[in-house]
Amino acid sequence: METIDYNSFAKKCVDDLKSLQDRFQEEYDLNWYENWFYNQATGLLTFSSNEVELNFKYFEVGSFSEKLNTWMWSWDNDDTLDNVKEKTKLIKRFGQRSNFSRLTNGCFQSDEFEAWEFTAIATKVTNGIGVYRPVNHEQLQIFLVITEFVDNEVAQNIKDKYVQCDIHEYKRIAFVCQHLNHTSKIGFEEAFETSEDMELMEEEDFQAWCNECEVVRLKEGEWNDKSMEFSGIKLVCEKCYFEMKELNLGHR
Ligand SMILES: [Zn+2]
Ligand SMILES: [Zn+2]
Repeated sequence: METIDYNSFAKKCVDDLKSLQDRFQEEYDLNWYENWFYNQATGLLTFSSNEVELNFKYFEVGSFSEKLNTWMWSWDNDDTLDNVKEKTKLIKRFGQRSNFSRLTNGCFQSDEFEAWEFTAIATKVTNGIGVYRPVNHEQLQIFLVITEFVDNEVAQNIKDKYVQCDIHEYKRIAFVCQHLNHTSKIGFEEAFETSEDMELMEEEDFQAWCNECEVVRLKEGEWNDKSMEFSGIKLVCEKCYFEMKELNLGHR
């Protein structure tokens, strides 16, 4: 039975990535864009120049610290959202099956060259279409694998589901009546049973209203102009929504 040794496997992945990245660059010409932005919550990597935008889905392979000379796989990084590190578990599992300890240890001494090697392996294992390393800040280099192109309309639909909250930063959107707040207990009626971080269907939104709004809604028999006007629905972030829920319905 043939067993692959780690070094030749890693080298093969790096070679393959070179040609893959050439094709990727040729197709999308990333250098043409002036700005780039990526967001863990949406899982989108966006390049833009004026009105022109290009979007991809991505995940974070890991990070290389120039200061400590350490590599950390993102599955081992508590600061990275699941959304953009879930795929790295495939690499770890592959490492376990193949007995490649570099792929199964979370954090260890390394160098930049090896960081690229890991990124190449990650691309191979997950069928990535290209890679990207944003300009680093604070001596921490983040390595991204790009998994798919996302059309602008689809990307906008994803972004529309998020809001920049003053307290909680970038979170999913939620809707509450104008009366709900962070300090007073006034009831919490929901459109459907919810839990924090739950998956939502495309057409679903978190929606809640207070006892008074519920009285008006029941009197009107539905959400109509009158009950809607009374409720004065406002947009909040998901975290705010669940803080209000906890305040009103929280169990000790
Ligand atoms: Zn209300
Ligand atoms: Zn918030």
